[in-house]
Amino acid sequence: MKLDVQRTYNFNAGPSALPLSVLEKAQAELVNFRGTGMSVMELSHRSAAYEEVHNVAKSRLKELLSIPYNYEILFLQGGASLQFSMIPMNFLQSGKKASYVMTGSWSEKAFKEAKLFGEAYQAASSKEDKYRTIPKLSDLIFDQSDAYLHITSNNTIYGTQWKVFPNTENVPLIADMSSDILSRPIDVSKFALIYAGAQKNLGPSGVTVVIIRKELLEQANTNIPTMLKYSTHVNNNSLYNTPPTFGIYMLGEVLGWVQEQGGIQEIAKRNEEKAKLIYDVIDQSNGFYIGHAGTDSRSLMNITFNLQSEELEKKFLSEAKKEGFVGVNGHRSIGGCRASTYNAVPYEACKAFSEFMVQFQKNNG
Ligand SMILES: *Cc1c(COP(=O)(O)O)cnc(C)c1O
Repeated sequence: MKLDVQRTYNFNAGPSALPLSVLEKAQAELVNFRGTGMSVMELSHRSAAYEEVHNVAKSRLKELLSIPYNYEILFLQGGASLQFSMIPMNFLQSGKKASYVMTGSWSEKAFKEAKLFGEAYQAASSKEDKYRTIPKLSDLIFDQSDAYLHITSNNTIYGTQWKVFPNTENVPLIADMSSDILSRPIDVSKFALIYAGAQKNLGPSGVTVVIIRKELLEQANTNIPTMLKYSTHVNNNSLYNTPPTFGIYMLGEVLGWVQEQGGIQEIAKRNEEKAKLIYDVIDQSNGFYIGHAGTDSRSLMNITFNLQSEELEKKFLSEAKKEGFVGVNGHRSIGGCRASTYNAVPYEACKAFSEFMVQFQKNNG
């Protein structure tokens, strides 16, 4: 049941599992980074050795996501949460409105920040439905004169995920991809801005990836603090001030690992197989396990479910913990159970968890 080298079955929602080989490489390079006689954490962010790390991370991301030439890649701080504010600060011009599709707690937080800077409204919401579903594209109501349309591609807490993205035509499409970036192929050219805190699929916490279309930059407000302008970071290769160097190094190594695995196509295939193991148990449990998300909206990254009573859920979670499954409790705001099966969570961990679920039902059904 146990994995080697004291590694646990990590289903944490974020920060979350990192590839073992990346951790081992970081450990091997920790005290003498590639002949510098220093840790990567001790390098000057203006040194050639660090610049190499920085630019390798950028170019790997560009290659893996086939990011077109008319986009900039930024490594920022403040998490996805600061992006909730930076986006309206930069792009919500007076006289324009921003539209938000509400699919969960993170959309709500993003919407709340937009309203502090200008006019924002909801293009659609699945709140009435306890955020079980992603609204149908045909139900989105927004205007071609809007400053942008904001979506959350994967809803970490409720366990839903967009399967197709809206075609917004003239309206810049902005997506919070914190919990599913790099988990499946996406057409970057459909988006004006993509952002993601690294700590789910990309690396450790502390670095936030932003992919931004150059054309959008030209429309940005200029009368805002220097650090909060995207252009400041674009003009300085994300080195205006000291970047989170160790996080960017780890990000680059995780991206290298994705390349070694065969790229996004291969990762996406595995993610489908991993999620299927657990969804199949839910679907074949005759209602013992109750999936939260509507079948068409199911996330391949965060699998949310309940048991028939809170008491049984408590028992499930405590036995799961005893068996070495970490992080399968639901988010503190909604309870229940959640298995986060991000890129670095191995197939074997999902297999073991699905078997545990079957066994638990046998013993308690
Ligand atoms: C985790 C998460 C966030 C918050 O990220 P921070 O980096 O902690 O600010 C925002 N959006 C989504 C979809 C998330 O999963």
